[in-house]
Amino acid sequence: MPKKRFFGGIALIAAASTGCGMATASPERELTIPAEPTMISFVDPSHVDGLTTRTLTSGDAGGREVHIVYPDLRDAPDLNRKLDDLAQTRLRRFTESTESTDADAPRPRPELNVDWQLTAATDDIVGVRLRTGEFAGANWANSLHTVWYDRVSEKVVDSPGLVTSLNPLTTIVREQLRKRGSEVDYDAVRPDPDLFDSMAFNPAGDLVVEFDDYQVGPGSLGRVAVAVPGELVEPLLSETGRRAREAAKEATPSPAISGTPTTSPPATSAKAGGVDCEKDKCVALTFDDGPGPYTGELLEELRKAGARATFFTVGTNVAASPELVDAMREQGHLVANHTWSHRDLTKLSSSKITDAIGRAQSAISLEVGQTPTLLRPPYGAVNEQVTSIARKLGLALVNWDVDTTDGRERNPAAVARRAVAGAHPGAIILMHDVHRTTVEAVPAILRQLTAKGYTFVTVPELYGSAGMQPGRIYYSGKQPLT
Ligand code: ZN
Repeated sequence: MPKKRFFGGIALIAAASTGCGMATASPERELTIPAEPTMISFVDPSHVDGLTTRTLTSGDAGGREVHIVYPDLRDAPDLNRKLDDLAQTRLRRFTESTESTDADAPRPRPELNVDWQLTAATDDIVGVRLRTGEFAGANWANSLHTVWYDRVSEKVVDSPGLVTSLNPLTTIVREQLRKRGSEVDYDAVRPDPDLFDSMAFNPAGDLVVEFDDYQVGPGSLGRVAVAVPGELVEPLLSETGRRAREAAKEATPSPAISGTPTTSPPATSAKAGGVDCEKDKCVALTFDDGPGPYTGELLEELRKAGARATFFTVGTNVAASPELVDAMREQGHLVANHTWSHRDLTKLSSSKITDAIGRAQSAISLEVGQTPTLLRPPYGAVNEQVTSIARKLGLALVNWDVDTTDGRERNPAAVARRAVAGAHPGAIILMHDVHRTTVEAVPAILRQLTAKGYTFVTVPELYGSAGMQPGRIYYSGKQPLT
């Protein structure tokens, strides 16, 4: 499917002063060189041909909360392997360092979240910035890792490989950090590859060196980054570094997706109507975490069966694969919100919750021209703060009453069996279209439930004229629990 996406305006996305979010430049600053030099040049992934995303997850109902997403480029297998390795290593370390908890364990649970951005994507070079958030006890610790794929030398290069030696760079960075004040521990800055594992360029060609939380000072510092002016860094760059710098200067900037949702008509399914779930046997299939590499195939299966579903999409994936979200809407499915990057909302501050939901609202509205009315909180995790913000944003919360546990399953027949066995009139069935197993299970689910007389509807259709209220939590076609 060809990539297509056009924007009325262009703006630069900035890495914000806090670890978790990103701020977007205001419209007034469009097309200007950013005043903040540590703003990295990011590329709009929807413009990159052959790009899809991979998701590693514990599922939405597990005791450990894991959600790792990273890009996959059709023509860069070495890069894909490196990203796979990084993701698997993160997951293994996290699993070893946290105690196993079951699905009924009290919250907050240990969480690992990884999302990504492109720092370059040209014929010469690709850069991928992975942002990891880890919640072990009471706080998030955020870390960054930027890897580069040099298409000319056909080598995957970690950030230190952008320069020929870390020693002179370390001296410059230490000097720059001195200006940040006494809280920065600039003596901690040594020519250590681990410290310099996230480097990229801003649109002016300055090298932006970013540090992880707690690496060079207390967590209260927020994001610690240094921009090394282009003229200072130029003599230090390797061949790969030069290519990365050129690419950043030429980058097509990412679109501004703000945490303040735009207003457009509330989302409905274009093909809703004609079903009365008080009389008919209705079931709502829900697919979370996509769109992903198997979503196109799933849409084809649903189309063949004349079935409609609800997709709880992750904002970063919507931004990477908008054409799949278009296809969902065109086929009469309902596109709903599963937050921007799938962090457990109950562990976030109120402003971060608003941002996580609002940015996904904006990304989806931008694509489908309708504002989502449904939110599925990641891991089904809600508290009063979450419901109150959802209410303000006009979102009903949707969990599930049939869990296919497809996140942990490698056998499509087992996923199908759980879906069919759990189905009842009004059921909300939880699945994830980022897993091949799930998509392979769908034909059998559609066939068997059709044979039992079920109609496949979107979630709001289960409630008919009674409707769904923002801020309330729904588990099945019965009335909300709270
Ligand atoms: Zn999910």
